[in-house]
Amino acid sequence: MQETPKRFVTVAVDGGAAAGKSSTSRAVAERFGLMHVDTGAHYRTVALALTRAGISPGDTGAITAFLGIGGSTGDSAGDAVGGTTGDATARLTTVVEGRTARLAIDGVAPADAALRAPEINAVVSPFAAVPAVRQFLFAYQRGQVAVARERGFNGLVMEGRDIGSVILPDADLRVFLEADPEARAARRVAEGGVDAVAERDKRDSSRKTAPLVCPAGAVRIDNTHLSLAEVVEEIARLITALR
Ligand code: C5P
Repeated sequence: MQETPKRFVTVAVDGGAAAGKSSTSRAVAERFGLMHVDTGAHYRTVALALTRAGISPGDTGAITAFLGIGGSTGDSAGDAVGGTTGDATARLTTVVEGRTARLAIDGVAPADAALRAPEINAVVSPFAAVPAVRQFLFAYQRGQVAVARERGFNGLVMEGRDIGSVILPDADLRVFLEADPEARAARRVAEGGVDAVAERDKRDSSRKTAPLVCPAGAVRIDNTHLSLAEVVEEIARLITALR
């Protein structure tokens, strides 16, 4: 049964690879009528576009040229917008499917299977460590709050690595999900995926720009021994308690 929060709410969910962020965020979005934004999918979309263009993570010159850095301006009205400078500016738009908002670059929102392929698992963290890539997505991601309002959602739940620390530090609720490394690796295997979870976490935690951290003031939930329903219940309690 859907519950209506007292007001428009913003929820940030951060955590390592396979920590349960997506299933939790989707379930919370469903329960409260929120728009769900998976920023990991944004980095995967950019990594896929760059890979298809033959660009590797070490080639910052080519990355900058491809993305037309100057930064994205976000698409608060859902209209196509892109960077503000450069000729090759990639245009970013939002496609909302059900409760999930997906990023399209130059009109292309790749299928989930392509975003989660082993080749992309292997390069997404190195691309995400490139400051130009993060700069490219920053305003777009912040702009998703306005997109959620405009599309009539009761709020937004955004998941990633730096949502509570960098993208939405003023979110009404910031959650940091954790689970034992063995449990996380086992989840990926159960999903049939090929993914070096620990290695990605190490890269994501040690990079200079917007590393994976549990931000001060965030609610830490270790779900190693909790069911999805129990985690969602805990977050629902926190959302209901918001004033
Ligand atoms: O969440 P997911 O595992 O799909 O994220 C893929 C990768 O995208 C992460 O390993 C990380 O390198 C990057 N990422 C990030 N910041 C975010 C979300 C994801 O750097 N907010």
